[in-house]
Amino acid sequence: MAEFSLDLTEEQRDLRDWVHGFAAEVVRPAAAEWDAREETPWPVIQEAAKVGLYGFEFLATCWADPTGLSLPIASEELFWGDAGIGLSIFGTSLAVAAIYGAGTPDQLVEWVPQCFGDVGSPAVAAFCTSEPEAGSDVGAMRTRAVYDEATDEWVLTGQKAYATNGGIAGVHVVTASVDPTLGSRGQAAFVVPPGTPGLAATRKLRKLGLRASHTADVFLDGVRVPGRCLLGGRDALLQRLDRARSGQRATGQAAMRTFELSRPTVGAQALGVARAAYEYALDYAKDRVQFGRPIIENQAVAFALADMRTEIDAARLLVWRASWMGRNNRPFTAGEGSMSKLKAGEVAVSVTEKAVQLLGGAGFLRDHPVERWYRDAKIYTIFEGTSEIQRLVISRAISGMQIR
Ligand SMILES: Cc1cc2nc3c(=O)[nH]c(=O)nc-3n(C[C@H](O)[C@H](O)[C@H](O)COP(=O)(O)OP(=O)(O)OC[C@H]3O[C@@H](n4cnc5c(N)ncnc54)[C@H](O)[C@@H]3O)c2cc1C
Repeated sequence: MAEFSLDLTEEQRDLRDWVHGFAAEVVRPAAAEWDAREETPWPVIQEAAKVGLYGFEFLATCWADPTGLSLPIASEELFWGDAGIGLSIFGTSLAVAAIYGAGTPDQLVEWVPQCFGDVGSPAVAAFCTSEPEAGSDVGAMRTRAVYDEATDEWVLTGQKAYATNGGIAGVHVVTASVDPTLGSRGQAAFVVPPGTPGLAATRKLRKLGLRASHTADVFLDGVRVPGRCLLGGRDALLQRLDRARSGQRATGQAAMRTFELSRPTVGAQALGVARAAYEYALDYAKDRVQFGRPIIENQAVAFALADMRTEIDAARLLVWRASWMGRNNRPFTAGEGSMSKLKAGEVAVSVTEKAVQLLGGAGFLRDHPVERWYRDAKIYTIFEGTSEIQRLVISRAISGMQIR
């Protein structure tokens, strides 16, 4: 067993510095423009693909890190540059992670490259699970998948809500119910290949923040996909349904583990936004003079900054712990993945709010990026499980009881 250390390895430091350089030189200078345009920043995605920050190889290298820290480190740096552009670049990994987690090796080889497209002309992918009537309550999903024996096709019908990259994606990974009587245990995930008829995104959603990231409702009107698009394959699905129907214990542990694994990375994104705002406010407080001295010389201001930094560092330790646990197959007995996302999301909201306050009137203007960070931070208490849902997971884990 390796000696305990919080020192980053040389590879991790190199990764951090490389992603930070890209965020500082390419992402941050473009952030205000794409936020105002409310459009997907294709040129920035293309640049990310060119330098090797967008593609399966990059993700696979991060996943291979035995400490589990590479992805949170890279995420924090990229989202320090900008969360909207960051999500445009990393949003595809949601779909890729679903294929990686549920798909067979053949499916991985077939679909993952299509998620990213080519370096010269990158594509994005979407992971569509939320629905108008099924957000936090995933078991209430209404989208149906029906197998057509005659053609060996699955037919998908329903509506998905809030899909990041919905409609502009090539590959859409869509979850659907194959047996509604089984709730979330009767669901499966399907790849909808690029250009499949019947899938449409009619409304691009206008948002408080993350405006450079495309979000849309997705409609599935009798979408036919080949049998090989069912992630994991039909035999595995039928076995899983049989187990559920015969009342065997839920594989809920496995599903829960998938969420617990992805949550620290989302927490790391929130940390990037929080750190950007904290650093900006610290510099501003050293420069801004009132009453004949820099405002940071007032304890009220300095203590606020001290709290911001302490909260960010505390959240990062939770993110790193959960990432390490996930990578090293430690059981999440107290909802440690949820803890990391809960804390980091709430820290991002409170730190960006304090940063606006420390800039005074300037904080309220679009002349400074803190107003954008303040808008962007709010998503981190909402998507990938709201703060209330994270608390539910933690309280169930620590109590062993069905807290509602
Ligand atoms: C910008 C953006 C991008 C997104 N990207 C994607 C994506 O790519 N793919 C995707 O599938 N989804 C995506 N989502 C959807 C997101 O995951 C959901 O919005 C989120 O899970 C919450 O669901 P909801 O909006 O239906 O809220 P609801 O579930 O309706 O919740 C409303 C409120 O009730 C609370 N609540 C609900 N149930 C309980 C309970 N049992 N106990 C206590 N409180 C409760 C919630 O915490 C919340 O405060 C995205 C959303 C946004 C805004």
